[in-house]
Amino acid sequence: MTAGRPEIAPALSAVWRHGRAPGAELRLWQDARLRRLVSHAYESVPFYRRLFDRHRLHPRHVRGVRDLEIIPFIDKAELRRQRPGDLLARGHDPATLLEVRTSGSTGEPFTVRRTWLEDKLQYLVRLRAMQGLGVRPRDLVVAVGVERPESDDRKLVGRTLRALGLHSRVLLDGLADPVHIAYELRRLRPDVLVGLPGMLNRLTTPDLAGALETVRPRFVVVGGEVTTPAMRARLGCTFGAPVYETYGSHECPLIAAECPWSGTLHACEDAVLVEVLRDGRPVEPGEQGEVVVTNLHAYAMPFIRYRIGDLATRAPSCACGTPFTALGAVQGRMIDYFPLPDGRLLHPYEIVTRLVWGSQGWIRQYQLVQEQRDSVVLYVVAETAPTEEQVAEVTRAVRPVLGDRVRFEVRPVARIPFEATGKLRPSRSLVWSEYDQAGPRPLSA
Ligand SMILES: [Zn+2]
Repeated sequence: MTAGRPEIAPALSAVWRHGRAPGAELRLWQDARLRRLVSHAYESVPFYRRLFDRHRLHPRHVRGVRDLEIIPFIDKAELRRQRPGDLLARGHDPATLLEVRTSGSTGEPFTVRRTWLEDKLQYLVRLRAMQGLGVRPRDLVVAVGVERPESDDRKLVGRTLRALGLHSRVLLDGLADPVHIAYELRRLRPDVLVGLPGMLNRLTTPDLAGALETVRPRFVVVGGEVTTPAMRARLGCTFGAPVYETYGSHECPLIAAECPWSGTLHACEDAVLVEVLRDGRPVEPGEQGEVVVTNLHAYAMPFIRYRIGDLATRAPSCACGTPFTALGAVQGRMIDYFPLPDGRLLHPYEIVTRLVWGSQGWIRQYQLVQEQRDSVVLYVVAETAPTEEQVAEVTRAVRPVLGDRVRFEVRPVARIPFEATGKLRPSRSLVWSEYDQAGPRPLSA
């Protein structure tokens, strides 16, 4: 079998070269990658074999990107219905794969698996994007975020990259007290600051201005959640630096990154094919549609025409000369902090990680809502009706985080309603939300 994994040399050269290559070269490369991925998925992944057979589709029908439209869509709900082994290519032992458990932007817990090598390829794509934004080899990049469980491996990779003269990176725990984060930043003096916008936004309060006075990165990179215009303005003001956006997910770690020149997002099309569709048809520039991705470097667990659950605006092709297509505003994940009666601002990850990383396999989809300052409700669409003990287990896991003064309740429901924007908001505060103050960043092209 020759098609069992991504080919390293072509993937590497793509990552280092295609950001500047002519469009025709990129398209030929994408066609070849897509053909290879599709035949691999058909030959080796039981789920795709069944899916293609059901649609009377054979890999030979897919000659390139122009034939994408004949491949059926898949989504997280459908993948969750499969036996996990059926989503993996034959010959992979799940125990040897890296696992990323995610709630994504739709509140559906789900496990993404990839090989060590695939993970590193995704990391290189990120690195390339960071260089595109202006990161230099000797820069100290400080990220404020959530530690992934395979962090030892990350450190090893970090050391290797530093040995190669690439930038070093320090991760600060974004769930820590903002005062602590501010003083760590002051000590580290990052050249580039990276983080989840909601977490960085907490550093923009007037009481931290003094501590952050000397923290002057050349620029700030945000991603993982929607950044509102107000958040963007506050970050720019607090750190005295331009703010650039990236867009990614666990299934496709980097989907697009902002062009410092135009402000639109370049799709990272040497790693992922990005479609923006409405009623199954590509939208015109300026129109909004659903984001559908095909990860060209995921072979252990392929994602082909995967509806990721985000909405985006298609932007006109960027005048900076990139061969990549462009996106405008992305309506991705919106995570509200919960202001608690004891004065704490609780990040819902502190609760969500207990659901996603716990043994709560019965939760198909959830929405965590702070209904009042002292009341948090977990709405749950269950895979199978939970036992009293299963509900009690969730409550026991969550209670210590909320403290005594907040009521917590698990409420099973048949479905979780969409927002008016067509998005699900997995963590939502009705007390106060950054996202209800203003809409998403408008298309800046
Ligand atoms: Zn551009």
